[in-house]
Amino acid sequence: MAKQKKQRYKTSKNKKYQSEKQNSKQSHPRKSQETVTPKANNRSINKKNHGQRKSTIEVTCTGLTSEGKGIVQWEGKQVEVAHLLPGEKAEVTVSKKGRFVKMELKRVITPSEDRANRPLSHDNEGVGCQLYHMNERAQERFKQKLIDKQMKTFGKPKPILTMEQPYYYRNKNVMTFGLDNKRQIISGLYAENSHQIIPMESSIIHDPKADEIIQTIKGMMKSFKMQPYNEDTGRGFLRHVLIRVGKKSGEIMVVLVSASSVFKGKNNFVKALRKTHPEITTILLNINDRNDSMVLGNQEKVLYGKGTITDTLCGLEFEISAKSFYQINPVQTERLYTRAIEMAELTGDQSVIDAYCGIGTIGLVASERADKVIGVELNKGAVRDAIRNSKRNGVKNARFYQGDAGEFMVQMAQRGEHVDVVFMDPPRSGSDKAFLSSLVTLKPKRIVYISCNPETQARDLNYLVKNGYKVREIQPVDMFPQTNHIECVAALDVI
Ligand code: SAH
Repeated sequence: MAKQKKQRYKTSKNKKYQSEKQNSKQSHPRKSQETVTPKANNRSINKKNHGQRKSTIEVTCTGLTSEGKGIVQWEGKQVEVAHLLPGEKAEVTVSKKGRFVKMELKRVITPSEDRANRPLSHDNEGVGCQLYHMNERAQERFKQKLIDKQMKTFGKPKPILTMEQPYYYRNKNVMTFGLDNKRQIISGLYAENSHQIIPMESSIIHDPKADEIIQTIKGMMKSFKMQPYNEDTGRGFLRHVLIRVGKKSGEIMVVLVSASSVFKGKNNFVKALRKTHPEITTILLNINDRNDSMVLGNQEKVLYGKGTITDTLCGLEFEISAKSFYQINPVQTERLYTRAIEMAELTGDQSVIDAYCGIGTIGLVASERADKVIGVELNKGAVRDAIRNSKRNGVKNARFYQGDAGEFMVQMAQRGEHVDVVFMDPPRSGSDKAFLSSLVTLKPKRIVYISCNPETQARDLNYLVKNGYKVREIQPVDMFPQTNHIECVAALDVI
């Protein structure tokens, strides 16, 4: 284990290797048992592999990493192989660069009974899905084991709530546009930690209609003389396309993310797109001239429709704008919120905080069982949505504030406000000292901590446990089937 850690640390220091390693992460056997990374994609994926010698060897997988990759012992080293399962014998390609070894799965010789027998209908359909090669039982076991281990010091987590139909669940789809080395337009996902686009037409977790619209846009670009943006030269126009689908309402938002605000022929483009997809309810242009990895820029123009979509969640209607956070798996979100609100044991007379509230979903769903709800959120647009959403649903006892949740809690604590229950749902990085220390000063009877990163959640729970709280219940929810991500709710009571 120590060895594995050490090796990982070293690889992350070597940037070039890192990107190759991440690329290899995305390669996968097409079907359950046989090979292969499709050749056409291989070309762009392995562009940087020139000069490396590759050979094919047979290996046996001895375990899994916490990211769900197979572990192989080879020449005294522990090597990770994506999409390989414990006990499986397989043919892999090996390439060495200095001390670094990279292995890619070529063919599984003896498949594990945990392997999913699911053929993919398009190349790269499993990109971004680290666990798609595991069947549902194996994914459930893998995630439960991880969360049990992560939360060991706080008690035994409840069984993870799995999804009945764990495919095509995403309501948001972002694809990046570029050119391949034959100068053909491609759309796909970045390989992790790299800006190399892996072309993909569809994904087993995307909304199929959203994937279809993206293919239509790609097909229209040539006749509209629309060039994809090139990060290296700064030339070109279209960077990404973001699509949001209201799974219940059927409304669809298309956001064209461009490098400049000059969009020649925009009216005709919008008209043609709507003609092929009359189901699109709104189209926006988002201008992103930044150099970081954020998908959306600050400037936004509505090209068609109202600029937002509406969806229904837990019986309430929510209006969502392009830049607001909205949970990507609505089926599991209903289960997550229902459990979180149950765990808060609301009786109708409590004063509740919804921290990191996004468009106000948790607070508004909880409001009918609370005396009052106060929501705080950093993103201005999301707060606007939250206020609009409380009016839309006739909620009279909720107030939403824009600002840093930590600063907001400090002020609440300084004013000596009374709070009974705090829901907190911070981003992956978790909460901060300002927030947590004011939280324990405010001393609500109960805290319900929702997180998509059990590692930072465990760190923050540790702080709360050392400062007057005990963990009563831990409920993992599988919000992201086929991927190695885990969502988890923890309820804490003041001692
Ligand atoms: N509870 C919401 C949103 C959770 S995502 C839901 O279930 O939909 C986390 C949210 O925290 C995002 O909306 C993000 O904009 C917000 N956020 C990030 N950093 C923040 C901070 N420092 N203070 C307040 N909100 C923050």
